[in-house]
Amino acid sequence: MSRLGVAVRGRLVEPYRLALDRYRTRPPTGGDSEIVTQVHRGDVRAFDVIVERHWAAVAAYLCTCTADLESVDDLTERTFSHAFVEAAQGAAPTFPWRVHLLATARGLVLREWVHRPVGPFLPGFRRWASAGGAWPLNCRPHLAEAYRTLPESRQAVLWHSIVEGDISGSATACLGARRGDFDRLASRARVALRESYLELRQRAAVLSVECTKYSALLAAAVAGGPTDPDAERGRADECIADHLAVCGRCREVYGDLADLDEQVRTQLPPLLLGWWPGPEYHRLRASQSPPGRPLAFLREAAARAAASASG
Ligand SMILES: [Zn+2]
Repeated sequence: MSRLGVAVRGRLVEPYRLALDRYRTRPPTGGDSEIVTQVHRGDVRAFDVIVERHWAAVAAYLCTCTADLESVDDLTERTFSHAFVEAAQGAAPTFPWRVHLLATARGLVLREWVHRPVGPFLPGFRRWASAGGAWPLNCRPHLAEAYRTLPESRQAVLWHSIVEGDISGSATACLGARRGDFDRLASRARVALRESYLELRQRAAVLSVECTKYSALLAAAVAGGPTDPDAERGRADECIADHLAVCGRCREVYGDLADLDEQVRTQLPPLLLGWWPGPEYHRLRASQSPPGRPLAFLREAAARAAASASG
């Protein structure tokens, strides 16, 4: 048998030991989805990287819900423990992990509120939870629908670049991309979102003859990026202005897509998470830092998961 054959056979026989040896000599790298795959294959320590990348965001999000910092720590650990078990069992999403972790944290803190509504929850969160933890009804759903039709990798790019405003280095690490590729990826993801939005609108077959006539001009008016010089967009704006004045449906599309970043920032997080205190979250995220290693709570979660799998 070739040396490669032996190595492959050895890895199959002792996946955990070999993965651990690999970790000791070379810390795991790769985007979030690759890390999660490594965890599923038995490299439990790879998940430390997920904690390092997303701890500040999850802790900040929970800080917008409760004033009890001990509770924030506990819920942050539980969020990652829960996500770790999902990853180990192969039940986790591949992308975008930031949204997945914030949604997990929201579910846990909401459950805390149900059990102990008199706890030190902050007024905004308390009002939202008391009202049934409802999704906002005043948001237009079309942008979120278009976002959901995109490949998960594009969703992650849009979330990190527009909603989180992440700097290139931290975002590309999560995405598993090269640092220099971030702007290009973000620009392509914006184009894909616009196209998906316009395509969904065409497919919904709600367009009048008049709207159909103006479709191409509307698409040109809301197009972005370096391939669309201001002059060209200005001409499209001028041509469609009369139609927008009389057509609410096209006005809505124009409103959603002409200033895409602002609309994504304001519409998307409340529609994906329900609870979203954007400015507060961003302010708090800057003051959080990940815990030092070793991450005892993760080792306990790994031991519990292994025990339940063998039991
Ligand atoms: Zn129209």
